[in-house]
Amino acid sequence: MTKSRTLLRIDPIGCRAHGLCAEGLPELIHLDEWGYPVLRGDEVPPSLVAEARRAAAACPTLAMRLRRDPAGQ
Ligand code: SF4
Repeated sequence: MTKSRTLLRIDPIGCRAHGLCAEGLPELIHLDEWGYPVLRGDEVPPSLVAEARRAAAACPTLAMRLRRDPAGQ
C-alpha cells in the first residue's frame, strides 16, 4: 500500500514576512532575523496536518501552500 504525504512549500516571492505561519505551525516553521519563514523540513507529519492547513489559510498572501504527494516520494 502506498502512503501519501503532505508537503509544505513557501513561495519566497509571495511571502511578505507577516510571520503568521510560524505562529500557527511553530513545530515546523521559525522566522529568520528579517521575519521570513525557515522550514525545519518540507514534510508535514500527519499529526500536524490540521495545524498546517490552518496556518496556510491564515497566510495573508497565500504564500504558504500544502501539497499532497500521493506517491509518497
Ligand atoms: S504567513 Fe505567509 S507571508 Fe507571512 S511569513 Fe508566513 S508565508 Fe510569509
